[in-house]
Amino acid sequence: MGEKTIFQRIIDHEIPAKIVHEDDRCLAFHDVNPQAPIHVLLIPKQPITSIETLADQDAALMGHLMLTIRNVARQLGLVEGGYRVVTNCGQDAGQSVDHLHFHILGGRPLSWPPG
Ligand code: AMP
Repeated sequence: MGEKTIFQRIIDHEIPAKIVHEDDRCLAFHDVNPQAPIHVLLIPKQPITSIETLADQDAALMGHLMLTIRNVARQLGLVEGGYRVVTNCGQDAGQSVDHLHFHILGGRPLSWPPG
């Protein structure tokens, strides 16, 4: 078995994180290097590498992740100003942790297109 990713170590409570939501299927915590006033990551507890490696049977899990993103955004007070949800998949997108994660960014106007 390969080495655990940093996110797997957070799921296993081996390293600390500022957790904002946890349930049986996912975890949300503040990004250690925030790119906006609010920058939270939401990850499944299941070890999925990226969107690319999702299986058809992960559809219900993905629905749960999207609804949890909505709930976390509400909890963090992001609804009025709006927010962005991003997942980086693979090298060109700059994915640096090989465990599926969604960035939830808000608290300031966000420019488009991304770099
Ligand atoms: P990506 O570049 O899309 O793979 O995003 C990985 C994100 O994980 C980056 O925004 C990092 O700042 C963040 N990150 C890395 N290690 C930790 C950690 N221990 N706790 C919280 N966020 C982390």
